[in-house]
Amino acid sequence: TGIYHSPLNLGPRYKIPAKHNLDTATFVLSQLPPHHEAESRVALIDSATNERVTYEQLLHSIHALASGLYQALGVRKGDVVFLLSPNSLLYPTICLAVLSIGAILTTANPINTESEIGKQVRDSGAKLAISSPEELHKLVPTGVPTILTSRPLSGDDSLTIEQLIEGYDPIPTELMQARPTQSDTAAILYSSGTTGTSKGVVLTHANFIAIITMLRWTVDETSAQDDVFLCFIPMFHIYGLAFFGLGLFCAGTTTVLMQRFEFNTMLDAIKTHKVSNIPAVPPVILGLVKYASKAACDLSSLRRVSSGAAPLSKELIDEFRERFPWVEMRPGYGLTESCGAATIFISDKQAKAHSASCGVLLPGFSAKIVDIETGEALPPYKEGELWLKSPTIMQEYLGNVESTLATIDSNGWLKTGDLCYFDEEGFLFIVDRIKELIKHNGYQVAPAELEAILLSHPQILDAAVIPVEDEEAGQIPMAYVVRAASPDGLTEDQVIQFVAGQVAPYKKVRRVDFISAIPRSPASKILRKELVILQNKQQTVS
Ligand code: AMP
Repeated sequence: TGIYHSPLNLGPRYKIPAKHNLDTATFVLSQLPPHHEAESRVALIDSATNERVTYEQLLHSIHALASGLYQALGVRKGDVVFLLSPNSLLYPTICLAVLSIGAILTTANPINTESEIGKQVRDSGAKLAISSPEELHKLVPTGVPTILTSRPLSGDDSLTIEQLIEGYDPIPTELMQARPTQSDTAAILYSSGTTGTSKGVVLTHANFIAIITMLRWTVDETSAQDDVFLCFIPMFHIYGLAFFGLGLFCAGTTTVLMQRFEFNTMLDAIKTHKVSNIPAVPPVILGLVKYASKAACDLSSLRRVSSGAAPLSKELIDEFRERFPWVEMRPGYGLTESCGAATIFISDKQAKAHSASCGVLLPGFSAKIVDIETGEALPPYKEGELWLKSPTIMQEYLGNVESTLATIDSNGWLKTGDLCYFDEEGFLFIVDRIKELIKHNGYQVAPAELEAILLSHPQILDAAVIPVEDEEAGQIPMAYVVRAASPDGLTEDQVIQFVAGQVAPYKKVRRVDFISAIPRSPASKILRKELVILQNKQQTVS
């Protein structure tokens, strides 16, 4: 009792393969459109250059690159490969080639700083890095061997991924020693989870094969072959990786790629390529509602926009539907630790009837709503922490037994750190975030990481970082700071600059308030809720 099961069923056509000796890439490639179609069907279009990649070219590139990585660079099963690049036509090829060897992929936001990247290289144990030319300088200090995706304009003549693809003939994967199995690690993606700093989320081939089977099923329900998807969500994040980097090819769709999000470029791309589907994030939905109806743009090709990674308010959903009545709006919910999506809507009718919900559990998912005080599993309409179980749940946090045990219980339930409830039909409603995590434009910001930086300032005695709601970005990080007694008192601007100098732009502390003491529990844990209450009070006063 107290367990919610998915009301959905994959059906026999979408059985998750049980075969042990199967890796994500082999699975994806076995699902591609048949040969006669693959020659002409376009898999990817670069929105900036209009360059196109057919399914046949994609398949060839993946095999050629796997062969090049294996033969020229000695990449083997179990080796960790660090990929640092914005979205590009090469991104999915690199991911699938790495996975087909049985090597382990780790990805990062290309705007991360040198020290953030260095930390991840060390933590993941990366043996090789693949970098876009612009980011190379951040990898140099790590000493890890690095190959560029493509030749820089003013470049030297070092080997590139493009050259490996051109220079190597595919070799049958059977000739590679030690083939990957479903239980082997496929990727290590970074998330701070419910507390602390960034940790390596260990995801296996079985996790990816399960989520890709489900994604394919959700896409296939609609006439996927005629769909044109627009991808600006980053492929280094699970949302973009599972969907655009790996899974969507199974459905044989065409994807128009944007290197990074830019509003007007998005509007142009929708019009030029007659985009029908956009997996988006809340700030993009807000942008469409606010500006698209005023801008001279043609959104008539749009059929469906989905949203994930951060909360989307009911008001915004309703407004979107009013402005764009011909477009289906489908919110969903997921997390890195569950290999991406956990809930979806399968019809527009349901989405409209349950406007503040994120949909129902994906097939194969079970859930509990657990009372935070008593640990009791709660019935419909009662709020508690959402726990999830499914074939997509991560194995562990890399090298971090303590955090793993605190996050996955002995029965395999993943504690999400999200405060939720289900209605009696199984629709999930997300009420609040219990975990520390701050989400800025859908990107993770870990308060503990910013607090460590603040504490390293000689004039700061103590500090705590909390989220403050923001219309555009969802949330911004705000710091409460206890100043050391000093004649030339530290200013808000100095604190902001100090942090900004050490973190990627999306993690910047954007507001600072000085306080005489940070509220802490007897065990010295920051009482964040008290600070949030204090902040709300100050907000109302000012
Ligand atoms: P990430 O691992 O970066 O995908 O972050 C996962 C977290 O983002 C979740 O645990 C939620 O706190 C938040 N999140 C994701 N999707 C939604 C959503 N639809 N509504 C509210 N919060 C969400």
